[in-house]
Amino acid sequence: MLVSEQKPLEEILRSLEGEGRVFLLGCRGCAEACQTGGEKEVLAMKETLEGAGKEIAGWAALDFLCQKGLVKTGLYPFEDQIVSADSILTMCCGIGVQVTSSVVGKVTHPACNTISLGGSRGEWWGSERCLECGDCLLDLTGGICPLTACTKSLINGPCGGARDGRCEFEPEVRECGWQLIYERLKKLDRLHKLREISLPKDFARMQPPKDLRGTAFWSLGQRQEERTGDETLGTL
Ligand code: SF4
Ligand code: SF4
Repeated sequence: MLVSEQKPLEEILRSLEGEGRVFLLGCRGCAEACQTGGEKEVLAMKETLEGAGKEIAGWAALDFLCQKGLVKTGLYPFEDQIVSADSILTMCCGIGVQVTSSVVGKVTHPACNTISLGGSRGEWWGSERCLECGDCLLDLTGGICPLTACTKSLINGPCGGARDGRCEFEPEVRECGWQLIYERLKKLDRLHKLREISLPKDFARMQPPKDLRGTAFWSLGQRQEERTGDETLGTL
């Protein structure tokens, strides 16, 4: 279970500046449980964005955006709508945004921030990682998380140690996360995003919020991670 909250509308609109047609994508997994990206929230976002002058190319709410196979097959019927859109606004956790971005050759904006639960992960295993930083940067990095793809969690570009696209730490097994970000942004024709500077991370947001830690849900969620398959404990 990954807990998310919607980004402020102003931030979402800022990320969509210059884009007329948007495809909306929600997740029937954790995001639906958090009421940040289920069908209801996707339809509410559709209305809000249309009110703000955006054209909605289409929308979908799929099961588990953290699973590549499900995303690929789930989006297939919407191919024409997605192709006609300038970008996708993805309403789910950071893992779902990364997965969507990796399977669709489109700019994928995060509509949510993933809140720390102290180190949980998506419902499905995969190579994408989210550090639950509480202030998602994927809009600036082509849908690749700099906090998990870069060994040093650098958020404003690479260190000086990369060689031939490999990370200076364990170059035999690790690609440089910022090389991957550069290549993705280039492919998406969004290299100008590299000029936007991210403010230092607020580490207080990377801890489970106090009000969440005090709830039965949080302690039950921790126990659920040790006992897979108990869905009744995974809903808010
Ligand atoms: S920037 Fe990375 S760590 Fe932060 S919410 Fe997005 S995917 Fe998660
Ligand atoms: S070489 Fe690349 S991935 Fe490794 S720490 Fe430096 S910027 Fe990060």
